Amino acid sequence: MSLTAESHRVPLSDGNSIPLLGLGTYADPQKTPKGTCLESVKIAIDTGYRHIDGAFVYYNEHEVGQAIREKIAEGKIKREDIFYCGKPGEAIYPRDENGKIIYHETNLCATWEAMEACKDAGLAKSIGVSNFNRRQLEMILNKPGLKHKPVSNQVECHPYFTQPKLLEFCRQHDIVIVGYSPLGTSRDETWVNVSSPPLLEDPVLNAIGKKYNKTAAQVALRFSIQRGVVVIPKSFNPQRIRENFQIFDFSLTEKEMKEIEALNKNVRYVELLMWRDHPEYPFNDEY
Ligand code: NDP
Repeated sequence: MSLTAESHRVPLSDGNSIPLLGLGTYADPQKTPKGTCLESVKIAIDTGYRHIDGAFVYYNEHEVGQAIREKIAEGKIKREDIFYCGKPGEAIYPRDENGKIIYHETNLCATWEAMEACKDAGLAKSIGVSNFNRRQLEMILNKPGLKHKPVSNQVECHPYFTQPKLLEFCRQHDIVIVGYSPLGTSRDETWVNVSSPPLLEDPVLNAIGKKYNKTAAQVALRFSIQRGVVVIPKSFNPQRIRENFQIFDFSLTEKEMKEIEALNKNVRYVELLMWRDHPEYPFNDEY
């Protein structure tokens, strides 16, 4: 498959397609000035990004929407050019009087049926899941009366956490992996496991980058897309938004792909420990 800046979509099992590179948009709302996300998404669209990853719980989804609307009004894009991934909800993280997060009575199959209804109502073109382990995926895939299969599973994936088993399982079931934190996160200690070293300082990624006149970030992203893993690097910095898009003018050899695969440490940066006592906490299983 030849991937170019203009054409780097991969097919989804429902007949739609997803660009292999998207812009992540999570940034700490306390530390990020209003309007930063809006400007960043506009720069990303001008750069050539056609896939944006957002969520209601990132507190800036309205800015993503505004950026897309402005770029459509300018005539830069049409709505159908953009693949937007959203993750809906109502109250954000409700807590009881002791400050403990109140969990919703989760029934993943019932939730999936509600997602199917969204697709049938035309509210979403494609529906997928996030942070699902193999057991949870199988539960949906084996659900009696399943109408639409999940087309994607958004999970942590990068050279230090390559997810070989989950990737293989998803390949067998035509589920695309969307790799979040593809650059190793922002290393925000309030939610990131910083005991795993900084990905972008890795000597192998930097040495390979030197050979191609690319950065470790570009090598990490290229590695993922060459494995068929969609990446959604977050940047709100104009230079780095552009840098992360310059990954279609070089390719890694099979030997380099193997060297990078060997960096896997099997340690998550994103453990979501605040939800570890939830009955559906996904990360107790091996994959
Ligand atoms: P990333 O791996 O994308 O890293 C983002 C960090 O890297 C930011 O601090 C950014 O800073 C910096 N950065 C970006 N580009 C470069 C570069 N070229 N060189 C050096 N540093 C760079 O981490 P995220 O955890 O943000 O993951 C990406 C996206 O995935 C999120 O934004 C969100 O959309 C999604 N996500 C989904 C989750 C889920 O549970 N479904 C969980 C976590 C993330 P700067 O902005 O200053 O460039």
